[in-house]
Amino acid sequence: MDAAAVEDARWRDGKTMSLVFDPGEEIAAFTKQAYTRFFSENALNPSAFPSLRRFENEVVAMTAQLLGGDRRVVGTMTSGGSESILLAVKAARDWAAAERRVRGVPQIVLPRSAHPAFPKACSYFGLEPVFVPVREDFRADPLAMRRTITSRTILVVGSAPAYPQGVVDPIDEIADLARRNGLWCHVDACVGGFMLPFVRELGWPVPPFDFSVPGVVSMSADLHKYGYSAKGASVVLFRDARRRRYSFYAFTDWPGGIYASSTMTGTRPGGAIAAAWAVMQHLGRDGYRSITREVMDATQEIRRGVAEIEGVEVLGEPHMSVLALGSRSLDIYAVGDELTARGWHIDRQQRPASLHLTVQRGHVGRTQAFLTDLRAAVGAVGHEPGRRWLERSALAVTGAALRMLPGRVTRALTLGAASRMGIGEGGSLPARSAPMYGMMASLPNRGDLKELVLDALDRMTRLDDT
Ligand SMILES: *Cc1c(COP(=O)(O)O)cnc(C)c1O
Repeated sequence: MDAAAVEDARWRDGKTMSLVFDPGEEIAAFTKQAYTRFFSENALNPSAFPSLRRFENEVVAMTAQLLGGDRRVVGTMTSGGSESILLAVKAARDWAAAERRVRGVPQIVLPRSAHPAFPKACSYFGLEPVFVPVREDFRADPLAMRRTITSRTILVVGSAPAYPQGVVDPIDEIADLARRNGLWCHVDACVGGFMLPFVRELGWPVPPFDFSVPGVVSMSADLHKYGYSAKGASVVLFRDARRRRYSFYAFTDWPGGIYASSTMTGTRPGGAIAAAWAVMQHLGRDGYRSITREVMDATQEIRRGVAEIEGVEVLGEPHMSVLALGSRSLDIYAVGDELTARGWHIDRQQRPASLHLTVQRGHVGRTQAFLTDLRAAVGAVGHEPGRRWLERSALAVTGAALRMLPGRVTRALTLGAASRMGIGEGGSLPARSAPMYGMMASLPNRGDLKELVLDALDRMTRLDDT
């Protein structure tokens, strides 16, 4: 298994700019003990394991308190941010069906920057997403959102912060809009929920984003991100028990017994719940605050370093440690290719083209290594001939879309396209994405891209592409 992992993203060296939140060995070892102690326990039936029930209720209560909730705020632990969001959207849908008369397909209004879990929820639950462009500063545009509200709107969404550029939306204005139109307002604090309260305590400006804002009905916050807990842990919170009830499910006619479930999954891992409780007890507010200070210091080091490198810039004014790196003069995806070649795992973003950085405790003390490689990457790209031509060409559009995808996806795509075009399945295609331009030049629109991405997903989840 160790041999299988040699090509994995190198998070232990602080070289992943997304996906992993590393609290350091001491905290991780402690949390793992709690996880394995409850490795076999199942939180599906809370009456069988009073321990897990207590841990879950206390994790939810601590999270509610952290996020400005009063004693009426209740919640549920889920497997992750996506499940928290799915449950909140499902609750909003069932609430609207029960308490508001909506004719036709209900709509949810969301800023362009909102997480794909929202359109995913719409696709699962038969709702229509209505996307609204963000402002120049990448924050949601409440005025534009107001103009899209119709008699079919049930839910409006804001993020704290949104993942692409790390900016907190004007939650007070969005919640006010919801309140005045009798709508549900969800705040997605998946990435910020366990960071922003401490960022604010440390004196950085953080706009109001939590239950202290009237009109906020539900929130999501991920323990497996800046909560530094084991994967598979998030919290969804509701303003009161009446709203949460719409997220529940019960089926009473099964020969197997009366079935009730608070989440989308059936069996729920005891380990993820126990680990979250343990790490919260272990760190406490003081522990999270001091980790937040380290992470914000590392973020400032990166921002200062980036400001000194000509050609790259941080987009907008991020409120915490989630950033986008863009450029006005360079092909930023080519910079990404150069960083990949230097061992960094870094995601490509679009509209505008940028690279994503989530700075976390695993980066503390390693920011200079990143800046050194970024400087080298920018230098290498700046001297590459032919870039200008490529940027102007029609192919660049297709190429840019493809180059945002993770390496394994592009490889699978290239192999798929190659075999479809009869080029044969040599597994030896180059790691860089530029050679794909020629092969993928016939890709005319996003619909085709979606089909290709689904093809790639299919190819990657087969035994023959390992
Ligand atoms: C990570 C994230 C999510 C989704 O969480 P998962 O745990 O990946 O399902 C939702 N919203 C935001 C803003 C996020 O950063």
